[in-house]
Amino acid sequence: MSTFQAPKGTYDLIPPNSATYLAVREAIAAPLKNSGYGYIETPGFENVELFARGVGESTDIVTKEMYAFETKGGDRLALRPEGTASVLRAALEANLHKAGNLPVKLWYSGSYYRYERPQKGRYRHFSQVGAEAIGAEDPALDAELIILAHQAYRSLGLSDFRILLNSLGDKECRPVYRAALQDFLRGLELDEDTRRRIDINPLRVLDDKREAVQERLIGAPMLRDYLCEACKAYHEQVRELLTAAGVAFEDDAKLVRGLDYYTRTTFEFVHDGLGSQSAVGGGGRYDGLSEMIGGPALPSVGWALGVDRTVLALEAEGITLDIPSATAVYAVPLGEEARRVLFRSVTELRRAGVATDFAYGGKGLKNAMKSANRSGARLALVAGERDLAEGVVQLKDLASGEQTPIALDAVVDEVRRALG
Ligand code: AMP
Repeated sequence: MSTFQAPKGTYDLIPPNSATYLAVREAIAAPLKNSGYGYIETPGFENVELFARGVGESTDIVTKEMYAFETKGGDRLALRPEGTASVLRAALEANLHKAGNLPVKLWYSGSYYRYERPQKGRYRHFSQVGAEAIGAEDPALDAELIILAHQAYRSLGLSDFRILLNSLGDKECRPVYRAALQDFLRGLELDEDTRRRIDINPLRVLDDKREAVQERLIGAPMLRDYLCEACKAYHEQVRELLTAAGVAFEDDAKLVRGLDYYTRTTFEFVHDGLGSQSAVGGGGRYDGLSEMIGGPALPSVGWALGVDRTVLALEAEGITLDIPSATAVYAVPLGEEARRVLFRSVTELRRAGVATDFAYGGKGLKNAMKSANRSGARLALVAGERDLAEGVVQLKDLASGEQTPIALDAVVDEVRRALG
């Protein structure tokens, strides 16, 4: 292994592609910022117990995929595998729910870690932008979140995605269904791991991707048929609000997600150009999570969208984001005196808010102009001894090649005028 190799299942974001990742994060965050969500940032690691209780002991995330470790001080910590448990923990710790303004609406963006078998779209380090609305039970809130994720994807120009929607019931109706499902599953021939899952979290068996298992599941009781009146009415309202907003969705009675905390509304955004790792984002209601981690009852709903897979979705649809060039002006000094003088102009331009770069390292004219072109700048500022003697620098339009002298003491104004 070379020292210069990123760890297995990880990759680096490097210019120019990294600009796309930043733009995707910003595009997902924009509708949230515009809808009352405040920014929250939590540590990259938490006490392992938070995830064991919050995400669920029976999930793959906790049993197989968590980067858990003991610190030198003897604390049991884990790199965060997802965002919801941490955000809720932080909100409870800061008593945000007691400020008398529910729901508490928060958005976040960051790195997450799961020890998964790497493949395209599945990494050990990945990036999510997420949103949580804590402390309110209102179908409009569930609808709002789905609508905002839809808006984010649309703003990126994506169209080849679908929204899968289901209700997982609540603490009234889910146990009844769970028992019926367990009865059904116990009558099937299944491997030992799956049998164990029947006891801990039978709903997850429905989510098994293996075809042989799926075949046996034909005729399994469906949660849809067990929903209580309150859950049915709630779900119907979410569906109506989405329809009224013009957001298309597909009812997917088999949709359960890989985390234990979901109740009622559950959804996933899938992209049809991504192959097996087609889920670009997902979320739902988690009315019981706060109590599971030791807090008061706080019905909540949220989602997380994967930045890596969203970028893959853009590639799959052949979409190139329109990212403006980072540099507008590139300064090329010819000689020592010009270097000192032009560097001062560069600083002035930057202070005036003009994105400017400089030919460092004493490059010759030819190489420096190459760098200027490569930078994507529209203008170059070129100055040699003769220009300085006349109190001017040459302003060159890099597209047309046209060059005009401008007064050295009016560089900021002249450049601004030239940039329009
Ligand atoms: P989840 O918390 O598993 O529902 O994940 C939410 C979203 O995060 C998924 O839809 C993916 O876009 C993304 N995601 C989850 N796990 C990974 C991973 N191992 N690699 C890349 N993206 C992931």
